Amino acid sequence: MFIEYYWRQSIPYATATDARILLQNYGKQAAVLNLLHDARREYSDSLPLVMKRPIWRKLVRGVARTVSGMPLRRLQRVGPQILDFLYSNVQTGDTIELRAGVAYCLRKFHGLVSDLVRGAWVRYVRRLNASTLAEATDLDEFLFGSERAVLAAVRPALMDLQRGRCFYCATTLKPADTEVDHFVPWSRYPSDLGHNFVLADSRCNRKKSDRLAAYEHLAAWSDRYANYGDQIRDALADPGLVSELAASNRVVGWAYSQAEAAGG
Ligand SMILES: [Zn+2]
Repeated sequence: MFIEYYWRQSIPYATATDARILLQNYGKQAAVLNLLHDARREYSDSLPLVMKRPIWRKLVRGVARTVSGMPLRRLQRVGPQILDFLYSNVQTGDTIELRAGVAYCLRKFHGLVSDLVRGAWVRYVRRLNASTLAEATDLDEFLFGSERAVLAAVRPALMDLQRGRCFYCATTLKPADTEVDHFVPWSRYPSDLGHNFVLADSRCNRKKSDRLAAYEHLAAWSDRYANYGDQIRDALADPGLVSELAASNRVVGWAYSQAEAAGG
């Protein structure tokens, strides 16, 4: 997830006169961006391709080390003040233990927290790169991708696969009333893995909202990708979406077992 976020940000940002990787740290560039930039240069610009190479495990280990060593300890610092509200600041080791209720709240308020963090992230990058960025208006899109671009890329492939019908109720989809749905809702697990997308009409999409679909739909999802997993992966690789069926299966399995454990 961390690498997916930063992968696109390790591309040089192009202006009329220059193209450079945006600084995301005072002084030296952020370590994760350097790691990803090196991997791009040596292997491929395509994340799905890099994920298939032996380098991938090394990359994940390197990034995990940086995350556990650096930002986690800084997560509760606001200016010079160290707050103590998400977890207790032990200052040793490379793991943290969230306080009771924190995981629930992070999930519940995911949309709100994401918006706040993205806004702050964009402002921070803009300040650090003021001379390169000037009045650039597409910074948000550059850093986080365009939701619309992803959805547009996903639609035709899924339309074929679903023979033009809603994944949930099987009525024929009208173009103006077709929505791309995260099968495991983004608020439960923020994954844009290709296999997590289905097409639905707006009525079903609204009804499902940020809940998990009923068990019968889980069976349909599972069948569909047992049969067409590779086909959809290939169709979505071009627009740059990462699809890894094993990972999607783990995410879906995890989400449903969480719901079951909670009596959902
Ligand atoms: Zn429907």
